[in-house]
Amino acid sequence: MISKEIKEKLKQICGPENYDDTNAGRLVYSYDASPQFQAMPDAVVAPRNKEEITEIVKICNAHKIPIVPRGSGSNLCAGTCPVAGGIVLLFKHMNKILEIDEENLTVTVQPGVVTLDMIKAVEAKGLFYPPDPSSMKISTIGGNINENSGGLRGLKYGVTRDYVIALEAVLANGEVIKTGGKLAKDVAGYDLTRLLVGSEGTLAILTEATLKLVPMPETKKTMLALYQDIEACAQTVSNIIANKIIPTTLEFLDQPTLKAVEDFAKIGLPTNVKAVLLIEQDGPEEVVERDIQKIAEICRAEHAVDVQVAQSAEHAEALMTARRTALSALARLKPTTILEDATVPRSEIAKMVVAINEIAEKYGLNIGTFGHAGDGNLHPTCLADIRDKDEMERVEKAFAEIFQKAIELGGTITGEHGVGVAKAPYLEWKLGKTGIEVMKAIKNALDPNQILNPGKAFAKESNRVVMTN
Ligand SMILES: Cc1cc2nc3c(=O)[nH]c(=O)nc-3n(C[C@H](O)[C@H](O)[C@H](O)COP(=O)(O)OP(=O)(O)OC[C@H]3O[C@@H](n4cnc5c(N)ncnc54)[C@H](O)[C@@H]3O)c2cc1C
Repeated sequence: MISKEIKEKLKQICGPENYDDTNAGRLVYSYDASPQFQAMPDAVVAPRNKEEITEIVKICNAHKIPIVPRGSGSNLCAGTCPVAGGIVLLFKHMNKILEIDEENLTVTVQPGVVTLDMIKAVEAKGLFYPPDPSSMKISTIGGNINENSGGLRGLKYGVTRDYVIALEAVLANGEVIKTGGKLAKDVAGYDLTRLLVGSEGTLAILTEATLKLVPMPETKKTMLALYQDIEACAQTVSNIIANKIIPTTLEFLDQPTLKAVEDFAKIGLPTNVKAVLLIEQDGPEEVVERDIQKIAEICRAEHAVDVQVAQSAEHAEALMTARRTALSALARLKPTTILEDATVPRSEIAKMVVAINEIAEKYGLNIGTFGHAGDGNLHPTCLADIRDKDEMERVEKAFAEIFQKAIELGGTITGEHGVGVAKAPYLEWKLGKTGIEVMKAIKNALDPNQILNPGKAFAKESNRVVMTN
């Protein structure tokens, strides 16, 4: 609960119009894009600058009031669900692109800038920011950095982490820290920039970020490879990489996903095949031509029933956009869509696809699969109905088995969506007890009063979920 006195102080700091504790205002921020999780905050606060954040944090720290930093709330791990109450901190006023530096190839932004807005601004100058989460039309850079988000171009270019070179953040005690710089090389001290990337709002509140840019690739080409055999399709992924070709994009979509996407996007996707690979390569024209031809040969050798190269830039863009709608398209089919992002070494992708299908059958569930196959990062997506208690129990068991299988294959419980509340019970499977203890030591050192996004990443009781066999 926020006392009357604190409420007045917070209103004074950020202006009464930026403080909301009405029922309607709090309800809007009681949930995010993750189904099954909801909790009311005590208030919603939208500071206008770093100085206001500093003041707010000092008050919250003194009174042990939780702070939940929130970009667009598009995360899929209940990372912005205010499970311990407190205030939700919005960055809607801190959404400026501060500088595009064409000499150092960097862009400096405030955390609330929408990812696609920044991508378009740098592209207008012939520069390229590769991380492209499918949610980029709505997600913010602050959210991307805190989840270390990936995208369709992750295979060749890496994820958000690989582009963050400097950060400014407010710590739990209200002090401001600056990490990194516009530097190609910097080994001064621990890598605090990397520590904050992916920290899910639990270590500091990000107020500014400098991101690395690269020159815009000269050209690109997009193709689809069609399969009637899912295992052959998944095997092709490993074969392409084993042939020492790294495409920009190497995405997998199974038949249920294809049908849902085609029904939504209506661009003539093949729906009579069991699976497709969506492949894109970029770079100098002759390299792209050579790679696309070679990839087509590899796909045919692995029993692709057809290989279709997009004949125009518009068609290529339509294919990529259609893939980006996969989650939204699937979400139209049933009331509850639970999407996870178990990830395995790419050599294990075929085994993982088979395992997901077997687990879906075992629990009598409707699980479609798509994802960044080249990164070994699959999105098994369960279409269910939260009102069906029995079904939801089976969903939970099925996903626990999927995570377990991923770990068995040398993988992880989350490749890009983060731990949040949803996967906290499973984190110890990946990190072990010592890993969790190290994380807790860092958390306690930076946030001794546990005010920053409490209830995220750490399960209430360590190892709450026991691995079977
Ligand atoms: C349709 C759809 C498609 C998606 N596709 C992808 C995809 O392709 N790849 C992918 O990786 N993810 C994807 N996501 C997940 C999600 O969009 C990403 O996790 C995204 O980075 C979240 O951004 P956001 O601005 O919505 O952040 P939020 O959801 O608001 O927050 C995410 C985390 O960041 C923290 N945070 C936000 N801002 C700050 C700040 N300034 N300081 C400190 N902490 C902060 C929050 O506390 C929270 O822990 C998808 C989601 C949807 C709904």
